[in-house]
Amino acid sequence: MEIIRDARQMQQWADSARIAGEKIACVPTMGYLHEGHLSLMREGRRRASKLAVSIFVNPAQFGPNEDLNSYPRDFERDCALMETVPVDVVFAPTPAVMYPPGFQTWIEVTEITQGLCGARRPGHFRGVATVVAKLFNIMKPHLAIFGEKDYQQLRTIERMVRDLNFDVEILGMPTVRERDGLAMSSRNAYLSPEWRTSALAISQALKAAAGRLAQGATHARELREAAQATLHEANGLNVQYLEVVDALTLKPVDRIEAPVLVAIAAFAGSTRLIDNCVLTPPVRHQRPPRA
Ligand code: AMP
Repeated sequence: MEIIRDARQMQQWADSARIAGEKIACVPTMGYLHEGHLSLMREGRRRASKLAVSIFVNPAQFGPNEDLNSYPRDFERDCALMETVPVDVVFAPTPAVMYPPGFQTWIEVTEITQGLCGARRPGHFRGVATVVAKLFNIMKPHLAIFGEKDYQQLRTIERMVRDLNFDVEILGMPTVRERDGLAMSSRNAYLSPEWRTSALAISQALKAAAGRLAQGATHARELREAAQATLHEANGLNVQYLEVVDALTLKPVDRIEAPVLVAIAAFAGSTRLIDNCVLTPPVRHQRPPRA
């Protein structure tokens, strides 16, 4: 497994692979890898002949009071895990490589980033879109794989790729969970055993919302109430948002007539966790197709 820290060198690696007729899959990550990341990599391994992974804790997507400095990092452990996939090349730049002095060009995806995490983390998706665009120009992938765990991020990248004509296929992969349902996240490493127990309520709340829809709920409010009741029982969770939005536009909905995203962000102590699920209403609720 090759490790590259320089952008020009990474571009040369990608150029050589393309000239040799290889198909390059890329998986952008911030490291401290877990099974969620590895599932993306294994899919990349299946779908392409070369697999490139980036490990970069992107300062541009963290707010001033967020956890940039304490974000967990363990490059050696990450490399050992990537060897098992196996990964062909790891691009691990420093912030100075990605944001050299004088850097002043940013990408803003304006609408889909308005609600949910975008509303609570000003500048976050501008940082995400910009770094992913740069990674695409540096790693030159044919295919890039992202997790549905960060659903708004996935939709933002898809929008950017369409709007700016990036020649990259985007693939979303399902959320990988611990056995009890907690969505895997590098930030779970912050959780004390007590907060770990409370955090479980987030995935349970999503299940409660799904159950409510299966029992015949027709309005977003009913799903929110079901989820809220579960979250309420958890010890000390501080819910930042609990929303039911259209799965395509991410705009709030009232009546559930098309697939919706139930999305939750909550603080377990100082650890901010997110999770979501897409729910499709039974056929009887759906809008009849237009004639
Ligand atoms: P991160 O390192 O948190 O920036 O995540 C890198 C990629 O892995 C993103 O596309 C995430 O959506 C994805 N990812 C993170 N956690 C999970 C998970 N539990 N299941 C599937 N994908 C995930």
